[in-house]
Amino acid sequence: MVADEKTFGFCQGGNILKEVRQKVDSLNALAWDLELVDPERAILLSEQAFHLSSTDGFAKEPYLKGKADSLCNLAHVNLDIGNYSLALNQSFDALSLYRKIADAEKEAIMLRNIGGIYCAINEYASAMDTLLEALTLSESLKFLDVKGEVLLNIGTVYLLIGNYSHALKEYEKVLEIALGTKNKTLEAFVLCNMTSVYVGLSDHENTKKTFERCLKISRETQNKLIQMNVLTQMGHEYLNQEDSVRAEECFRQSFELSKNAGFKNEEASSLVGLGKIYLQKREYEKSQEIFQTAKQLSEQLKDKNLLIECYKGFSQIYQALGNFENALDQCKRYYDTRQSLSDRINDQKIRTLEVAYRTERAQKEAEIARLKNIELEKEIAERKRIEKALRKSEEQYRLLAAIDPLTGINNRRHFFELAQREVSRARRFNHPLTAIMVDIDHFKKINDTFGHHRGDEVLKQCTDLIKDCLREMDIVGRYGGEEFSILLPETNLQQGIRVAKRLVQILRETPLQVGTDVAFVTLSVGVTELRGEMDLDTLIDEADHAMYSAKNAGRNRFVVWSRP
Ligand code: GH3
Ligand code: MG
Ligand code: MG
Repeated sequence: MVADEKTFGFCQGGNILKEVRQKVDSLNALAWDLELVDPERAILLSEQAFHLSSTDGFAKEPYLKGKADSLCNLAHVNLDIGNYSLALNQSFDALSLYRKIADAEKEAIMLRNIGGIYCAINEYASAMDTLLEALTLSESLKFLDVKGEVLLNIGTVYLLIGNYSHALKEYEKVLEIALGTKNKTLEAFVLCNMTSVYVGLSDHENTKKTFERCLKISRETQNKLIQMNVLTQMGHEYLNQEDSVRAEECFRQSFELSKNAGFKNEEASSLVGLGKIYLQKREYEKSQEIFQTAKQLSEQLKDKNLLIECYKGFSQIYQALGNFENALDQCKRYYDTRQSLSDRINDQKIRTLEVAYRTERAQKEAEIARLKNIELEKEIAERKRIEKALRKSEEQYRLLAAIDPLTGINNRRHFFELAQREVSRARRFNHPLTAIMVDIDHFKKINDTFGHHRGDEVLKQCTDLIKDCLREMDIVGRYGGEEFSILLPETNLQQGIRVAKRLVQILRETPLQVGTDVAFVTLSVGVTELRGEMDLDTLIDEADHAMYSAKNAGRNRFVVWSRP
């Protein structure tokens, strides 16, 4: 399991490199999982991973992610066990690596850790500043968990400066996220912190309820850190309620856990609790011994909150033993330290609120800008929608203006527009152009026999048959009721005659469906060709005349125009 870097010392080639990277990744993953369960082992594994990701094999191409992850793990564990300055350095190193490899999620996680460290060393304003930066970053992430963790720490800053209502508000958001994403660790953390809030608010009922819920989850998930933390808190709560039996039980459990797992600050704080228990039991020697250990740890941790508890303990012990000089000395230390701490906290309180206010304002302004943008986008979308509708109706209008609704071919007006262009073109380039006029014979009879509605259907079928006889480039229009005008570009009279012949023949021979009946129609067709300077009207007139000639000649035929 333990990786030996010598094995990889002479590594060459992509495969081995890949293997080493996998090793680094699995060491880091394991360390991450062990953070709250076995911090010492987590440190060991992370250090191995760090070492591996920085060995010669990586010299040319350092494994930044592996290095960053191991630093991230180390920073987390060192915060948990109270090595704050080390944790801070590692966090900043990891942060800059994550920025280099553009991993926004890990960047937010690191910022949150830095915020947590600032909290632990009572630098609340810096903590808030960093956490709000993490919050902004986490808003852009896909998963909610990071945001939940950041909010948790923000709540803690409020808790530490005694702003319980703000803290609770943040914690409620976190709890919602934790339940939504089924993140038990986050749930345990937030319940633990909520317990602190309820203790601060002297809400005993909620304290107990939240404590029990928290303890259950942290045991289920083997989250030792939270178990210890919430046990110590509850110990103090029982102590306040003068239930020293329960209090001692809590402190003992917490002490055992922290001692075994190496969580120094939890050890110190459970020792302070036990010291108080022995003081109450008047076992002064034992109490003093415990406070002594707690004091050493608190000094190591630079935790003034714990330190003042120790001074207070010593002072009470000396007093009980009649050693008033020492009692007074410890008492003085207690007050001095407490004063400096509360000055500091008061100062931090104002600065923290300033930071929170500034950011809240910036966030609100950003929100307003965002909403304005949405409004603008909506307006633009609406405008686009209207424009599109307008274009569509324009299109429809254009179509309506150009197309005959019954037959689907050009109406008379549009036919003339298109025809005019063809005539000009044919004249300009001296190209052939033939015009044909078509009139259905005895159409009245169709209407009389089948009714006007069926007549429409016949008209439609005739149109389709006529179109079938023409080319794509030919222009056909509905000239009047059952009259059609046709222009054949690039077509001389001989070719035009062939088209006219085909029209007459096809229409004559094709049975038309009229309801369940069948009908036949015939056409009278006139043909003429564009010549010299002829204009469109003359061309159509000639075709029309020829068509009437066909009528007069007995219908069901075509006639070529000839000068009368
Ligand atoms: P011919 O042309 O052979 O002299 O006889 P005709 O019966 O076709 O005579 P005319 O041109 O005078 O009449 C055309 C008839 O076509 C009159 C009208 O009822 C009918 N008609 C015109 N347009 C439509 C239409 O859109 N639908 C229907 N069903 N009938 C129409
Ligand atoms: Mg007719
Ligand atoms: Mg007619």
